Amino acid sequence: MKKDYYEILGVSKTATIEEIKKAYRKLALKYHPDRNPGDKEAEEKFKEASEAYEVLKDEEKRRLYDMYGHKGVSSTGFNGFSQTEDIFSAFNDLFEDFFGFSATRARTSSDVGPERGADLRYDLSISFIEAATGTEKEIEIQRLETCSRCSGSGAAPGNQIVTCPTCKGRGQIIRSEGFFQVSTPCPNCNGQGTIFTEPCPSCHGKGRTPQYRKVKIKIPAGVDTGARLRLRNEGEAGVRGGPRGDLYVVVHVEPHEYFSRKGNDLYCEIEISSIQACLGDTVEVPTLEGSEQIKIPAGTQPGAIFRLKGKGFPDLRGFAQGDQLIKVKLVTPTNLTAKQKELLEEFLEIEKKKEKGGFFKKIFKKVEFS
Ligand SMILES: [Zn+2]
Ligand SMILES: [Zn+2]
Repeated sequence: MKKDYYEILGVSKTATIEEIKKAYRKLALKYHPDRNPGDKEAEEKFKEASEAYEVLKDEEKRRLYDMYGHKGVSSTGFNGFSQTEDIFSAFNDLFEDFFGFSATRARTSSDVGPERGADLRYDLSISFIEAATGTEKEIEIQRLETCSRCSGSGAAPGNQIVTCPTCKGRGQIIRSEGFFQVSTPCPNCNGQGTIFTEPCPSCHGKGRTPQYRKVKIKIPAGVDTGARLRLRNEGEAGVRGGPRGDLYVVVHVEPHEYFSRKGNDLYCEIEISSIQACLGDTVEVPTLEGSEQIKIPAGTQPGAIFRLKGKGFPDLRGFAQGDQLIKVKLVTPTNLTAKQKELLEEFLEIEKKKEKGGFFKKIFKKVEFS
């Protein structure tokens, strides 16, 4: 049995179009295949939500669905999505240029008009500190550029480009088969609509050649692994005057020697001696900007955590900066000098004489050894 469309989107039967849009947007973002590569369940949920949205956003389809259920919308010729492409076009209605997703439709060979260049992906590694401070990088990529020799026409210089006589420039030929008319890409011009007798020697008639290009990338402070930066028009050159594709830079942050990160908070551990913990001390701790002195109060226990407000990662969306959390690890001093031993022994004697054994009173606890 098919699931109820309202249930899929998690809205009431009286939901407004705005509420439906909002609910769909949330689900679509969560289950978008770009965010869940290879996840079949997410893909199914994405399709389900898109189908529900396609019906409920349309007043007439929604009315029929309310009256007759799933039958109501399939009897009017609506059968959900037959192709993945349709889902993405519905998705694009909502998200185009908004979240940086690109779900461009695949072009068919019969398209003669301008064609957009392909999007490119580049995986960029940056250091932990660079992720915190932001940085600028220059990368080198190989991409298809418009051939400078033929300006993208594909014809050898001086060679005349003429309208294809077979298809008269349409790029398609139409044949009659019984009652039907079938159109196929023109075999004479490969659907281009134009022909030339001698192809350009640089690009072999393709109009584009692979070239190395340097691209500058600004990495904003606060990025984390998986962040995707979109650089407009830095993808491959278009065909027949079409626009360039985009370049997507996927950020990977290298691990740090002693820092770790959770959300925008920064974590590290410091070792201090049990004597320092007992008496209190000022110690130097590393921060993203260098180092800082922090005060360890007398009587600090193992595992105590100190917080440096606003010393974590900046927030990408401009919210409050994260904090730095410092966990204290106590170490027992070794290699004591004779004088140190003497002082500690005296300390121990006094402690033992205190009422009920002082600090060294016996406390037993059950412990599981793994
Ligand atoms: Zn060329
Ligand atoms: Zn032709």
